[in-house]
Amino acid sequence: MKALVFLGERNLEIQDVPKPEGEFIVKVMGSTICGTDLKAYLHGHPQFQPPTILGHEFYGKVEQAPAHTGYKPGDFVVVAPYGDCGKCEACLNNLPEQCVDKSHVSNGSFAEYVAVPAPLVERGVIRLDNPDYVYCLTEPLACVLIALEQMQPRKGDQILVIGGGSMGTLIAMALLDMGVDTYVSEVNAQRKAHLDSWQIPNGTTEEVYNAKRYNKIFVAVNVKELVEEAVARVNDGGMVHVFAGLPKGTMLDLSAADIHYRKVTITGSSGFSLQTFQESHKRIAARPSNYKRLITDFFPLERGGEAFELLVSGDAYKVLITTNLD
Ligand SMILES: [Zn+2]
Ligand SMILES: [Zn+2]
Repeated sequence: MKALVFLGERNLEIQDVPKPEGEFIVKVMGSTICGTDLKAYLHGHPQFQPPTILGHEFYGKVEQAPAHTGYKPGDFVVVAPYGDCGKCEACLNNLPEQCVDKSHVSNGSFAEYVAVPAPLVERGVIRLDNPDYVYCLTEPLACVLIALEQMQPRKGDQILVIGGGSMGTLIAMALLDMGVDTYVSEVNAQRKAHLDSWQIPNGTTEEVYNAKRYNKIFVAVNVKELVEEAVARVNDGGMVHVFAGLPKGTMLDLSAADIHYRKVTITGSSGFSLQTFQESHKRIAARPSNYKRLITDFFPLERGGEAFELLVSGDAYKVLITTNLD
């Protein structure tokens, strides 16, 4: 099969690689580029040693499936790239992101085919009644929903999202869709223009902090000072969620008084669970047009390198790499 193979920093190449083996095979139709893929592309990533295939946010068509699964060739599906086991200590303690026995799909999705292991088929594969590339966002939105589980947004909250990149914007889209007042801080003029066109209230960091007080703040930029500022400026009794991964070894300077006297709570999350993956699919299916806007650019697999470079330029939100479109 054809695959976009990651050979090293800023080096991708279309190669013929062996088709994955397995009983449940999905023909990839489209796959969006994640921040993690971009990080690996630019600086390498311990989890993705070249040569390897990147990509994990995808939808496709069943190519082959055992009859007992209920799927048949041609069924459209979205697939979780990995899934918690539901049985280990972490899973039983409601920490599925920390599961020690996760099942993973065979390879990255910037390729023609992906094999899904049996333990993942039951809860990690979801049939699509209205197939559409918007379902590539099921995984990133599932990561947002893990964060929302902790922050418990409700009507009446005043929420600030620091950072209007694709994940910050996705958090804002999910919150606004729930009818919760949400503001995004962003300095980049192009991104601000996008946020304006999507009717997402936004301003520079100073503007949004001066405009009002917030009781919940999500930090979706990996800058430690922005976390520290959020803790200092959130309302008494407020919550700050560290959504973006900060560089390894980062230490935060926080005032104990904010935590002790002002009762500020600090939370964080990474990854998703199969439960939030399923919930995410439901939310997208209910309002596909709300989320589809985030996918701004499209490239065929053969031009995958250009897709990554467009993201590097900062001039795109989610970029879709299409495969097998017929
Ligand atoms: Zn992702
Ligand atoms: Zn587990």
